[in-house]
Amino acid sequence: MRQVYLDYSATTPVKEDVWKAMLPYYTDFYGNPSSLYSVGLEAKAGLDKARGQVADLINAEPREITFTSCGTEADNWVLEGVADKLKEKGKHIITSKIEHHAILHTCEYLEKHGFEVTYLDVDSEGFVKPEVLEDAIRDDTILISIMMVNNEIGTVEPIKELAAVAKKHKIYFHTDAVQGLGNVPIDVKDLGIDFMSMSAHKIYGPKGVGALYTRKGIKIPNFMHGGAQETKRRAGTENVAGIVGFGKAAELAHANLEHHRAHCSELRDYLRKEIEEKISGIQVNGPRDHRHPGNLNVCFDYIEGESILLMLDGFGVAVSTGSACSSKSLVPSHVLEAIGVSITKMNGAVRFTVGDFTTKEDIDYTVDALKTVVEKLREWSPVTGQEGW
Ligand SMILES: *Cc1c(COP(=O)(O)O)cnc(C)c1O
Repeated sequence: MRQVYLDYSATTPVKEDVWKAMLPYYTDFYGNPSSLYSVGLEAKAGLDKARGQVADLINAEPREITFTSCGTEADNWVLEGVADKLKEKGKHIITSKIEHHAILHTCEYLEKHGFEVTYLDVDSEGFVKPEVLEDAIRDDTILISIMMVNNEIGTVEPIKELAAVAKKHKIYFHTDAVQGLGNVPIDVKDLGIDFMSMSAHKIYGPKGVGALYTRKGIKIPNFMHGGAQETKRRAGTENVAGIVGFGKAAELAHANLEHHRAHCSELRDYLRKEIEEKISGIQVNGPRDHRHPGNLNVCFDYIEGESILLMLDGFGVAVSTGSACSSKSLVPSHVLEAIGVSITKMNGAVRFTVGDFTTKEDIDYTVDALKTVVEKLREWSPVTGQEGW
């Protein structure tokens, strides 16, 4: 059976050039990068090279990059670090309603520890408006954190404009760029931001490696305490092979950016056109322009996204629902809720994300399978065509 992977926003396969770059760091250069003999120095050289490659991708300086264990750690570190550093100055943080849980749940944690968080509304396409941000700023605001690209509906936020508002009020600005990296051009100097979170496994690198960009001159308290690794900013022996893989993936993403964007958006637009032509009762969520090149989020009327996902899996097609129904909440997606999608429509949401290995044949196969699945589920659905749907 054909296998079609359309969940590149969940994670990506590791590219061959990436794992090939990593292998010698398991077999030959296995030394501890903090050791002073040759096999350690070789590992250290691998880290240095990777730091340069990641820095190049975002127009940063190598010393502004600190490697972490994942994007989530970078998000936790910056929020808790800035909160700790500036708690005497103020205890107010601003973020948006559509952030990743790595941000939202860290904010909830900080709320339990005496901080106040404002969760900004977004418009019907998921955009945070600079004037909405400015209105929320208070004398005690210490940090603004707005994601670069939304992971469910693909909205590319106006980070440069939002960061300018923060700068005007002399407030630190962080962006979670895990979905932006490798998908939109990023120049941290031009954006005027202070902190940025990244992750390797969303750009064809290995899982379990991330990084935080910290603009030079800024120091926040450490998140991990221990040894003097990462110029004393992040303790713990480095994941050398993983970091080398992140570096290689960043180099490839840099060289491939325009081609990647063109390839993904062409297939994504084709998928959208095919779904719109062949399947009735659908609604596309998120913005038309300023969207992640590979993202398509669609609500199918009368049926559950989760059932679509499971039945598509039977055809070898991997997609995602907005986010899984959590036991804590009746709302399947805080993002779709924030852009005003009704709860009944929201239940039928499916996220498709294409990537570098997706082909036109994959899309044709997927649309055929999807048509079969949607027709079957609607046949079974007790509510098809009834009032209230
Ligand atoms: C995947 C993702 C993260 C988490 O990154 P990990 O490396 O998996 O911890 C954070 N933010 C966004 C927007 C993401 O898509």
